[in-house]
Amino acid sequence: MSMLKSKWIKFGFAFLVIFLFLHFIVPLLILANLEKPPASSSHFINTFEESKERFLTYEESLNQNWNTVKRDSLSVDGDATIDLWWADANQQKTNLIIITSGVHGVEGYVGSAMLDIFLENFIAPLDKENTGIVLVHGVNPIGMMEMRRYNENNVDLNRNFIYNWDTFDKEMNTDYEDLKAFLQPENKISTITWRDLKFYGEIAKTVLTDGTTKIEKALLSGQYTQPKGVYYGGKDDEPSTEFIKGLFEEILLTEYANILHVDLHTGYGPRYQMSIFSSGKETMSQEEAQEAFGYPLVFTPDSDEYYVTNGDVPEYFAMLKEEIAPSKSLYSTTFEFGTMGDGLWASIDSVKRTIMENQMIHHGSNDEHSKEILDSRYREMFYPSEQKWRDKAKADFIQAMEGVLKFNNMIE
Ligand SMILES: [Zn+2]
Repeated sequence: MSMLKSKWIKFGFAFLVIFLFLHFIVPLLILANLEKPPASSSHFINTFEESKERFLTYEESLNQNWNTVKRDSLSVDGDATIDLWWADANQQKTNLIIITSGVHGVEGYVGSAMLDIFLENFIAPLDKENTGIVLVHGVNPIGMMEMRRYNENNVDLNRNFIYNWDTFDKEMNTDYEDLKAFLQPENKISTITWRDLKFYGEIAKTVLTDGTTKIEKALLSGQYTQPKGVYYGGKDDEPSTEFIKGLFEEILLTEYANILHVDLHTGYGPRYQMSIFSSGKETMSQEEAQEAFGYPLVFTPDSDEYYVTNGDVPEYFAMLKEEIAPSKSLYSTTFEFGTMGDGLWASIDSVKRTIMENQMIHHGSNDEHSKEILDSRYREMFYPSEQKWRDKAKADFIQAMEGVLKFNNMIE
């Protein structure tokens, strides 16, 4: 055998070993290291059914504190319902606190935990004579059941609260159209290793050609042209949206003059520090807001990290108030429990999980391991299993809630 020939055989053999390693061993290594969700415990539970069942038991403690407690519900599909409790102030209707959860389906598990923590910690200090509360569970119940951010029509509800669809420009997101092939590939998912490698190749190419801003703009603002794409905002009010828009109107038409609204989300921001994400109407600077709430992290329109989206819930509420109840005070804000962390790597990882989950939903995979890995990665992005994360989320929620309640003169 010539020297040259044996060199090629060695090379071919090495190549084969690497290929087999990447194709068969790497997926097993990833699988072995996946985060496993703990069993439902204390505030944090694992299924929509359990979560809804617990929410419905709140009637008792609400009734012990408020004289008039009513329930409302919208069935999106059978048992997949949006549920709410509305407890009215016993004497003078002055303050109203409304907490919405699960606008982004899968984020509703942390939302549900926070509703539970709210009841445990904040009923006592509230003055029930002049303060009422409205608690909303599972704004996107199907997404919550299916562990998706999007709803039954693949719509991102936090891009669906458009103030006026007639004047809204659905074609404004040209960046999404430019990056469509990368953001919503239209083929089945292969072995996870090859899919991951392909993603890194594509994102490197996109970043080198267009920079990171284009990807951010393409995603965060929402898009209204690709119903099977990511961050799709829909073409009209979704059933959940119509229900919540109606609720906001009803609230604004009551006597309550001082209204606080908190919409609960997970995903964006530093992993172990929940951020209060102000609405675009906020006039305080980041520093002033942090001081005012006695809370270490508030994003206001002047923050570098602040981003504007179309059709988001607090923005809609604020605009509706300006139109139908301008003399009232409404503080509408988002509590965002970060999961992925800060920095470029975290952003790339989020984009990766988002794109692949969507591809899996619409095109599937022949590889069971790929599905299991992608499901786990997606769930961890919105509902971390780690106990340390959950404990910190609880502590942050209590601190932030105390801050905004004090700021809005709802507790001492
Ligand atoms: Zn969200």
